Amino acid sequence: GATIGIIGGGQLGRMSAVAASRLGYQVHILSAEIDPPAHDTARHVTIGAYDDEAVLRQFAESVDVITFEFENISSDGLELLASLCPVHPAGRVLAISQDRILEKSFLGEQDIPVAPWVSVPDEVSLSSVASELGYPFLLKTTRFGYDGKGQFRITDAETLDALASTLPYPLIAEGFVDFERELSVMVARSASGAVRCFSVTENQHRDGILDISLAPARIPVALAAEAEALALRIAEAIGLVGILGVEMFVSAKGTLLVNEIAPRPHNSGHWTMDACLIDQFEMHIRAVADLPLPDPFRHSDAVMKNLIGPEGMALCDTVLEQPGLALHLYGKSECRPGRKMGHVNALFPLGALPGPYGVAARFDSALKAPQEA
Ligand code: ATP
Ligand code: MG
Ligand code: MG
Repeated sequence: GATIGIIGGGQLGRMSAVAASRLGYQVHILSAEIDPPAHDTARHVTIGAYDDEAVLRQFAESVDVITFEFENISSDGLELLASLCPVHPAGRVLAISQDRILEKSFLGEQDIPVAPWVSVPDEVSLSSVASELGYPFLLKTTRFGYDGKGQFRITDAETLDALASTLPYPLIAEGFVDFERELSVMVARSASGAVRCFSVTENQHRDGILDISLAPARIPVALAAEAEALALRIAEAIGLVGILGVEMFVSAKGTLLVNEIAPRPHNSGHWTMDACLIDQFEMHIRAVADLPLPDPFRHSDAVMKNLIGPEGMALCDTVLEQPGLALHLYGKSECRPGRKMGHVNALFPLGALPGPYGVAARFDSALKAPQEA
Protein backbone atom coordinates (compact mmCIF):
# COMPACT_ATOMS: atom_id res chain seq x y z
CA GLY A 1 0.00 0.00 0.00
CA ALA A 2 0.91 3.66 -0.09
CA THR A 3 3.16 5.19 2.55
CA ILE A 4 2.33 8.42 4.32
CA GLY A 5 5.29 10.41 5.62
CA ILE A 6 4.73 12.47 8.76
CA ILE A 7 7.27 15.02 9.90
CA GLY A 8 7.38 15.21 13.68
CA GLY A 9 7.03 12.36 16.14
CA GLY A 10 5.11 13.96 19.02
CA GLN A 11 1.67 12.98 20.22
CA LEU A 12 0.00 14.49 17.15
CA GLY A 13 2.20 12.32 14.92
CA ARG A 14 1.53 9.32 17.13
CA MET A 15 -2.25 9.71 16.83
CA SER A 16 -2.08 10.58 13.10
CA ALA A 17 -0.12 7.38 12.51
CA VAL A 18 -2.84 5.32 14.21
CA ALA A 19 -5.47 6.90 11.96
CA ALA A 20 -3.38 6.32 8.82
CA SER A 21 -2.69 2.69 9.61
CA ARG A 22 -6.39 2.13 10.31
CA LEU A 23 -7.02 3.31 6.75
CA GLY A 24 -4.50 0.77 5.49
CA TYR A 25 -1.52 3.06 4.94
CA GLN A 26 2.02 2.49 6.07
CA VAL A 27 3.46 5.34 8.08
CA HIS A 28 7.00 6.67 8.05
CA ILE A 29 7.79 9.25 10.73
CA LEU A 30 10.69 11.67 10.68
CA SER A 31 11.56 12.87 14.17
CA ALA A 32 14.37 15.05 15.45
CA GLU A 33 13.70 13.76 18.93
CA ILE A 34 15.11 10.43 20.14
CA ASP A 35 12.42 7.99 21.33
CA PRO A 36 9.45 10.05 20.06
CA PRO A 37 5.87 9.23 21.13
CA ALA A 38 5.12 8.16 17.53
CA HIS A 39 7.66 5.35 17.76
CA ASP A 40 4.98 3.01 19.13
CA THR A 41 2.47 3.61 16.35
CA ALA A 42 4.42 3.99 13.07
CA ARG A 43 5.98 1.23 11.00
CA HIS A 44 9.10 3.24 10.12
CA VAL A 45 10.74 5.93 12.19
CA THR A 46 13.76 7.91 11.10
CA ILE A 47 15.54 9.95 13.74
CA GLY A 48 17.24 12.90 12.07
CA ALA A 49 17.46 16.67 11.92
CA TYR A 50 14.74 18.55 9.99
CA ASP A 51 17.41 20.71 8.31
CA ASP A 52 19.66 17.84 7.21
CA GLU A 53 19.43 17.67 3.43
CA ALA A 54 20.42 14.01 3.17
CA VAL A 55 17.89 13.02 5.82
CA LEU A 56 15.07 14.96 4.13
CA ARG A 57 15.95 13.55 0.71
CA GLN A 58 15.98 9.96 1.91
CA PHE A 59 12.70 10.50 3.80
CA ALA A 60 10.95 12.06 0.78
CA GLU A 61 12.10 9.23 -1.47
CA SER A 62 10.64 6.60 0.87
CA VAL A 63 7.07 7.94 1.03
CA ASP A 64 4.19 8.76 -1.36
CA VAL A 65 2.95 11.93 0.34
CA ILE A 66 4.30 14.07 3.16
CA THR A 67 2.44 15.87 5.91
CA PHE A 68 3.50 17.10 9.33
CA GLU A 69 2.52 17.49 12.93
CA PHE A 70 5.39 19.86 13.64
CA GLU A 71 5.21 23.35 12.16
CA ASN A 72 8.72 24.67 12.37
CA ILE A 73 10.45 23.15 9.35
CA SER A 74 12.59 25.68 7.47
CA SER A 75 11.39 26.97 4.12
CA ASP A 76 14.54 25.53 2.47
CA GLY A 77 13.74 22.12 3.94
CA LEU A 78 10.15 22.35 2.74
CA GLU A 79 11.24 23.36 -0.73
CA LEU A 80 13.57 20.38 -0.97
CA LEU A 81 10.81 18.01 0.20
CA ALA A 82 8.30 19.50 -2.24
CA SER A 83 10.71 18.99 -5.15
CA LEU A 84 10.74 15.25 -4.41
CA CYS A 85 7.23 14.42 -3.19
CA PRO A 86 3.77 15.99 -2.73
CA VAL A 87 3.69 17.94 0.57
CA HIS A 88 0.34 18.79 2.22
CA PRO A 89 -0.35 21.39 3.50
CA ALA A 90 1.94 23.36 1.17
CA GLY A 91 5.02 25.21 2.42
CA ARG A 92 3.23 28.54 1.97
CA VAL A 93 0.63 27.54 4.57
CA LEU A 94 3.33 26.59 7.02
CA ALA A 95 5.28 29.79 6.38
CA ILE A 96 2.21 31.89 7.22
CA SER A 97 1.38 30.03 10.42
CA GLN A 98 5.03 29.95 11.58
CA ASP A 99 5.23 33.71 11.84
CA ARG A 100 2.66 35.70 13.81
CA ILE A 101 3.24 38.83 11.70
CA LEU A 102 2.69 37.00 8.39
CA GLU A 103 -0.29 35.24 9.97
CA LYS A 104 -1.98 38.43 11.17
CA SER A 105 -1.20 40.17 7.86
CA PHE A 106 -2.69 37.31 5.88
CA LEU A 107 -5.84 37.28 8.02
CA GLY A 108 -6.15 41.05 7.65
CA GLU A 109 -5.87 40.80 3.85
CA GLN A 110 -8.76 38.33 3.92
CA ASP A 111 -10.86 40.69 6.08
CA ILE A 112 -10.81 38.16 8.91
CA PRO A 113 -11.27 40.07 12.18
CA VAL A 114 -8.27 39.94 14.57
CA ALA A 115 -7.24 41.84 17.71
CA PRO A 116 -5.41 45.13 17.02
CA TRP A 117 -1.67 44.45 16.65
CA VAL A 118 1.63 46.08 15.76
CA SER A 119 4.95 44.67 14.68
CA VAL A 120 7.76 45.25 17.21
CA PRO A 121 11.01 44.36 15.43
CA ASP A 122 13.26 45.95 18.08
CA GLU A 123 13.40 47.83 21.37
CA VAL A 124 13.10 51.24 19.69
CA SER A 125 9.75 50.35 18.11
CA LEU A 126 8.37 49.40 21.52
CA SER A 127 7.97 53.02 22.61
CA SER A 128 4.92 53.75 20.44
CA VAL A 129 3.01 50.51 21.19
CA ALA A 130 1.19 51.76 24.30
CA SER A 131 -0.16 54.81 22.50
CA GLU A 132 -1.42 52.61 19.64
CA LEU A 133 -2.93 49.73 21.63
CA GLY A 134 -3.34 51.05 25.17
CA TYR A 135 -2.70 48.95 28.27
CA PRO A 136 -2.85 46.07 28.84
CA PHE A 137 -1.29 44.50 25.79
CA LEU A 138 0.56 41.28 25.07
CA LEU A 139 3.99 40.89 23.57
CA LYS A 140 4.60 37.57 21.81
CA THR A 141 7.63 36.21 20.03
CA THR A 142 6.85 36.18 16.32
CA ARG A 143 8.04 32.57 15.90
CA PHE A 144 8.30 29.27 17.80
CA GLY A 145 5.86 30.11 20.62
CA TYR A 146 3.50 27.42 21.90
CA ASP A 147 1.53 26.80 25.10
CA GLY A 148 1.78 30.53 25.85
CA LYS A 149 5.59 30.41 25.97
CA GLY A 150 7.34 33.59 24.82
CA GLN A 151 4.46 35.85 25.89
CA PHE A 152 4.60 38.88 28.13
CA ARG A 153 1.58 40.71 29.50
CA ILE A 154 2.27 44.42 29.78
CA THR A 155 -0.03 46.25 32.18
CA ASP A 156 1.71 49.61 32.57
CA ALA A 157 4.69 51.75 31.62
CA GLU A 158 6.83 50.56 34.55
CA THR A 159 6.46 46.88 33.56
CA LEU A 160 7.33 47.82 30.01
CA ASP A 161 10.44 49.82 30.98
CA ALA A 162 11.67 47.05 33.26
CA LEU A 163 11.37 44.42 30.49
CA ALA A 164 12.25 46.39 27.36
CA SER A 165 15.98 45.61 27.20
CA THR A 166 15.54 41.92 28.04
CA LEU A 167 12.90 40.90 25.49
CA PRO A 168 13.55 38.37 22.66
CA TYR A 169 12.93 40.54 19.59
CA PRO A 170 11.33 40.44 17.02
CA LEU A 171 7.96 40.56 18.73
CA ILE A 172 4.35 41.23 17.92
CA ALA A 173 2.23 43.38 20.26
CA GLU A 174 -1.46 42.50 20.50
CA GLY A 175 -4.21 44.38 22.23
CA PHE A 176 -5.42 42.33 25.18
CA VAL A 177 -8.83 40.84 24.37
CA ASP A 178 -11.14 40.73 27.36
CA PHE A 179 -12.80 37.68 25.86
CA GLU A 180 -16.08 36.15 26.93
CA ARG A 181 -14.83 32.72 25.87
CA GLU A 182 -12.39 31.02 23.53
CA LEU A 183 -13.40 28.81 20.59
CA SER A 184 -11.70 26.73 17.97
CA VAL A 185 -12.80 25.17 14.72
CA MET A 186 -11.07 22.23 13.04
CA VAL A 187 -11.50 22.47 9.28
CA ALA A 188 -10.27 19.93 6.75
CA ARG A 189 -9.88 20.41 3.01
CA SER A 190 -8.72 17.88 0.42
CA ALA A 191 -6.81 18.44 -2.80
CA SER A 192 -10.10 17.93 -4.65
CA GLY A 193 -11.52 20.89 -2.74
CA ALA A 194 -13.88 18.97 -0.44
CA VAL A 195 -14.21 20.73 2.93
CA ARG A 196 -15.48 19.63 6.32
CA CYS A 197 -15.69 21.25 9.77
CA PHE A 198 -15.95 19.61 13.17
CA SER A 199 -18.36 21.07 15.72
CA VAL A 200 -17.18 24.38 17.15
CA THR A 201 -15.22 23.73 20.35
CA GLU A 202 -14.99 25.83 23.50
CA ASN A 203 -11.57 26.01 25.17
CA GLN A 204 -10.40 26.88 28.66
CA HIS A 205 -6.69 27.54 29.27
CA ARG A 206 -4.69 27.39 32.48
CA ASP A 207 -1.25 29.02 32.72
CA GLY A 208 -1.29 29.54 28.93
CA ILE A 209 -1.85 25.81 28.26
CA LEU A 210 -5.09 24.26 27.03
CA ASP A 211 -6.79 22.63 30.02
CA ILE A 212 -10.32 21.71 28.97
CA SER A 213 -12.23 21.61 25.66
CA LEU A 214 -16.00 21.25 25.36
CA ALA A 215 -17.86 20.24 22.23
CA PRO A 216 -20.10 21.58 21.03
CA ALA A 217 -19.31 25.07 22.31
CA ARG A 218 -22.10 26.46 24.49
CA ILE A 219 -22.89 29.37 22.17
CA PRO A 220 -25.87 30.38 20.05
CA VAL A 221 -26.15 28.45 16.77
CA ALA A 222 -25.78 31.67 14.77
CA LEU A 223 -22.40 32.37 16.38
CA ALA A 224 -21.29 28.78 15.77
CA ALA A 225 -22.25 29.16 12.11
CA GLU A 226 -20.19 32.36 11.95
CA ALA A 227 -17.19 30.61 13.49
CA GLU A 228 -17.44 27.79 10.93
CA ALA A 229 -17.79 30.27 8.09
CA LEU A 230 -14.61 32.07 9.21
CA ALA A 231 -12.69 28.77 9.38
CA LEU A 232 -13.91 27.77 5.91
CA ARG A 233 -12.94 31.14 4.46
CA ILE A 234 -9.45 30.81 5.92
CA ALA A 235 -9.08 27.25 4.60
CA GLU A 236 -10.07 28.32 1.08
CA ALA A 237 -8.02 31.51 1.08
CA ILE A 238 -4.84 29.79 2.25
CA GLY A 239 -5.31 26.88 -0.17
CA LEU A 240 -5.35 24.33 2.63
CA VAL A 241 -4.88 20.65 1.92
CA GLY A 242 -5.00 18.84 5.25
CA ILE A 243 -6.51 19.95 8.54
CA LEU A 244 -6.30 23.34 10.21
CA GLY A 245 -7.16 24.51 13.71
CA VAL A 246 -8.53 28.05 13.90
CA GLU A 247 -8.41 29.59 17.39
CA MET A 248 -10.86 32.42 18.10
CA PHE A 249 -12.01 34.74 20.85
CA VAL A 250 -15.61 35.71 21.48
CA SER A 251 -15.20 39.36 22.45
CA ALA A 252 -17.13 40.99 25.28
CA LYS A 253 -19.41 42.41 22.56
CA GLY A 254 -20.08 38.91 21.24
CA THR A 255 -18.09 39.26 18.02
CA LEU A 256 -15.45 36.80 16.79
CA LEU A 257 -11.73 37.58 16.56
CA VAL A 258 -9.29 35.02 15.17
CA ASN A 259 -6.28 34.46 17.45
CA GLU A 260 -4.10 32.08 15.46
CA ILE A 261 -4.18 29.18 13.03
CA ALA A 262 -2.39 25.82 13.18
CA PRO A 263 -2.26 23.75 9.94
CA ARG A 264 -2.27 20.33 11.62
CA PRO A 265 -4.36 18.32 14.09
CA HIS A 266 -4.89 20.43 17.19
CA ASN A 267 -5.10 19.71 20.91
CA SER A 268 -8.59 21.23 21.02
CA GLY A 269 -9.74 18.57 18.52
CA HIS A 270 -8.79 15.57 20.68
CA TRP A 271 -12.41 15.14 21.83
CA THR A 272 -13.21 13.92 18.29
CA MET A 273 -11.31 10.69 18.99
CA ASP A 274 -14.16 9.35 21.12
CA ALA A 275 -17.16 11.48 20.13
CA CYS A 276 -16.99 11.06 16.34
CA LEU A 277 -16.76 8.11 13.96
CA ILE A 278 -14.15 9.99 11.96
CA ASP A 279 -11.79 11.88 14.26
CA GLN A 280 -9.57 14.85 13.41
CA PHE A 281 -6.57 12.60 12.75
CA GLU A 282 -8.44 10.45 10.25
CA MET A 283 -9.91 13.57 8.63
CA HIS A 284 -6.37 14.93 8.32
CA ILE A 285 -5.09 11.73 6.69
CA ARG A 286 -8.14 11.57 4.39
CA ALA A 287 -7.54 15.18 3.28
CA VAL A 288 -3.84 14.58 2.67
CA ALA A 289 -4.52 11.31 0.79
CA ASP A 290 -7.36 12.93 -1.18
CA LEU A 291 -9.98 10.51 0.13
CA PRO A 292 -13.61 11.61 0.62
CA LEU A 293 -14.39 13.82 3.65
CA PRO A 294 -17.83 12.72 4.80
CA ASP A 295 -19.64 14.05 7.88
CA PRO A 296 -17.61 12.86 10.90
CA PHE A 297 -20.83 11.67 12.57
CA ARG A 298 -20.50 13.19 16.03
CA HIS A 299 -22.59 10.83 18.17
CA SER A 300 -21.95 12.44 21.59
CA ASP A 301 -21.18 15.69 23.30
CA ALA A 302 -17.71 15.64 24.80
CA VAL A 303 -15.37 17.22 27.30
CA MET A 304 -11.63 16.76 26.98
CA LYS A 305 -9.17 17.39 29.78
CA ASN A 306 -5.43 17.51 29.22
CA LEU A 307 -3.21 15.52 31.55
CA ILE A 308 -0.30 17.87 32.12
CA GLY A 309 2.89 17.05 34.02
CA PRO A 310 3.03 15.00 37.23
CA GLU A 311 -0.24 16.56 38.39
CA GLY A 312 -2.01 15.26 35.29
CA MET A 313 -0.43 11.82 35.51
CA ALA A 314 -1.64 11.56 39.11
CA LEU A 315 -5.21 11.54 37.75
CA CYS A 316 -4.66 8.38 35.68
CA ASP A 317 -5.72 5.85 38.31
CA THR A 318 -8.97 7.72 38.88
CA VAL A 319 -9.60 8.00 35.16
CA LEU A 320 -9.01 4.27 34.70
CA GLU A 321 -11.64 3.32 37.25
CA GLN A 322 -14.31 5.92 36.37
CA PRO A 323 -16.97 4.78 33.91
CA GLY A 324 -17.54 7.05 30.91
CA LEU A 325 -13.97 8.31 30.61
CA ALA A 326 -11.54 7.43 27.81
CA LEU A 327 -7.84 7.69 28.64
CA HIS A 328 -5.24 8.55 26.02
CA LEU A 329 -1.57 8.54 27.06
CA TYR A 330 1.26 9.61 24.78
CA GLY A 331 3.96 7.20 25.98
CA LYS A 332 6.37 9.96 27.00
CA SER A 333 9.09 8.57 29.24
CA GLU A 334 9.95 11.88 30.86
CA CYS A 335 7.22 13.66 32.84
CA ARG A 336 8.05 17.32 33.41
CA PRO A 337 5.78 20.04 34.84
CA GLY A 338 3.82 21.68 32.02
CA ARG A 339 4.41 18.75 29.62
CA LYS A 340 1.36 17.29 27.86
CA MET A 341 1.38 13.62 28.90
CA GLY A 342 -2.06 12.58 27.70
CA HIS A 343 -5.71 13.55 27.74
CA VAL A 344 -9.03 12.14 28.86
CA ASN A 345 -12.35 12.36 27.07
CA ALA A 346 -15.72 12.27 28.81
CA LEU A 347 -18.80 11.62 26.69
CA PHE A 348 -22.32 12.97 27.26
CA PRO A 349 -25.50 12.26 25.32
CA LEU A 350 -26.13 14.75 22.48
CA GLY A 351 -27.46 18.00 23.91
CA ALA A 352 -26.58 17.04 27.48
CA LEU A 353 -23.71 19.40 28.20
CA PRO A 354 -25.04 21.42 31.16
CA GLY A 355 -24.92 25.21 31.11
CA PRO A 356 -21.93 27.49 31.66
CA TYR A 357 -19.48 26.36 34.36
CA GLY A 358 -21.43 23.15 35.04
CA VAL A 359 -19.53 20.71 32.90
CA ALA A 360 -16.00 21.73 33.67
CA ALA A 361 -16.75 21.74 37.38
CA ARG A 362 -18.45 18.37 37.29
CA PHE A 363 -15.71 16.88 35.17
CA ASP A 364 -12.98 18.28 37.39
CA SER A 365 -14.61 16.96 40.53
CA ALA A 366 -15.19 13.57 38.92
CA LEU A 367 -11.47 13.34 38.30
CA LYS A 368 -10.39 14.66 41.67
CA ALA A 369 -12.83 12.86 43.96
CA PRO A 370 -13.91 9.39 42.85
CA GLN A 371 -17.61 8.91 43.54
CA GLU A 372 -18.54 6.91 46.62
CA ALA A 373 -20.39 3.68 45.83
P1 ATP B 1 -0.76 27.40 21.37
O1 ATP B 1 -0.29 26.35 22.32
O2 ATP B 1 -2.26 27.49 21.23
O3 ATP B 1 -0.06 27.38 20.04
P2 ATP B 1 0.58 29.97 21.68
O4 ATP B 1 1.77 29.94 22.55
O5 ATP B 1 0.77 30.01 20.21
O6 ATP B 1 -0.38 28.77 22.11
P3 ATP B 1 -1.63 31.88 21.80
O7 ATP B 1 -2.62 30.89 21.33
O8 ATP B 1 -1.42 33.08 20.97
O9 ATP B 1 -0.22 31.24 22.15
O10 ATP B 1 -2.02 32.34 23.26
C1 ATP B 1 -2.25 31.40 24.29
C2 ATP B 1 -3.46 31.85 25.09
O11 ATP B 1 -3.21 33.14 25.64
C3 ATP B 1 -4.71 32.02 24.25
O12 ATP B 1 -5.39 30.81 24.03
C4 ATP B 1 -5.48 32.99 25.13
O13 ATP B 1 -6.04 32.35 26.24
C5 ATP B 1 -4.38 33.92 25.61
N1 ATP B 1 -4.21 35.04 24.66
C6 ATP B 1 -3.43 35.05 23.56
N2 ATP B 1 -3.53 36.23 22.91
C7 ATP B 1 -4.39 36.98 23.60
C8 ATP B 1 -4.92 38.31 23.45
N3 ATP B 1 -4.53 39.10 22.44
N4 ATP B 1 -5.80 38.76 24.37
C9 ATP B 1 -6.17 37.97 25.42
N5 ATP B 1 -5.71 36.72 25.62
C10 ATP B 1 -4.83 36.23 24.74
MG1 MG C 1 0.22 28.76 18.73
MG1 MG D 1 -2.97 29.19 20.60
